[in-house]
Amino acid sequence: MIERVAELSAALEARRAAASTVGLVPTLGALHDGHASLIERAAAECDLACVSIFVNPLQFTSAAEAAAYPSGLDADVVLAEKAGATVVFAPTLEEMYPQPPAVGVQIAGQLGATLEGVSRPGHLDGVATVVAKLFAMAGRCRAYFGEKDYQQLLVVRRLVADLSFPVTVVACPTVRSIDGVAESSRNRQLSSAERGAAPVLCRALRAGAAAVLAGGSEPGEVAGLMADIVAAEPLVELDYAVVVDAASLVVPERLVGELRLLVAARVGGTRLIDNVGVRVA
Ligand code: AMP
Repeated sequence: MIERVAELSAALEARRAAASTVGLVPTLGALHDGHASLIERAAAECDLACVSIFVNPLQFTSAAEAAAYPSGLDADVVLAEKAGATVVFAPTLEEMYPQPPAVGVQIAGQLGATLEGVSRPGHLDGVATVVAKLFAMAGRCRAYFGEKDYQQLLVVRRLVADLSFPVTVVACPTVRSIDGVAESSRNRQLSSAERGAAPVLCRALRAGAAAVLAGGSEPGEVAGLMADIVAAEPLVELDYAVVVDAASLVVPERLVGELRLLVAARVGGTRLIDNVGVRVA
């Protein structure tokens, strides 16, 4: 368990000097099976797996949203260790941000100006800023990110390429519960009725993917189909449902190549996101 940045950097550097490889799993805590899958993969592919747990205020759209985010460090440490982590890095707010940042990463262009960038202004910039800090602190490593946060994954890949971090980004598939709901720390905020309604997101994505694979649909029709499925669930309020090019996040003219279907919705007071990929030859 490490709380200080200098201690983290020194510990990981010492391990690299002894020819060990480092796997980094950045998280907000409130760990679940989705996080465990990233940690297990990091532990399998690297000599040392390090999980960071930090509720980064920069990526929340309000202080109230950050304060309401679930937490539980003791349980997180147990889960991380069981999944194979050697180090848990859990810094305080003051340790990560000794002063309010005057300089941050800004995700310009199509990757940052769409989807979550529209619905949660500043969120992706906040993610990119804290991930850049973690990469600078951790040094050379493999860093594990979930496809669950697909736009975030693309932003992090771009961050590494643009700013030349010595980091290999590893994308990990979305872990789902038996009813299809993507595991998420935010699921803990759902009432049982809301949790019962949540599978509609996955149902919409699967129906959308089937329509894409069947051929003959336009992107707008597939988006409409997904929106209609979500609209039939009264406890769920859709934010967006789209099918986009998987690399650029732009809505394509025709549904061919690597595509990604993404949805975001409010379920009661909780905002959930989910996505699936499809490939059309
Ligand atoms: P978070 O704590 O929500 O910021 O998530 C930390 C990392 O775990 C991110 O890379 C997420 O994409 C990933 N993650 C969250 N939920 C899942 C899931 N259900 N399956 C796979 N990865 C996930």
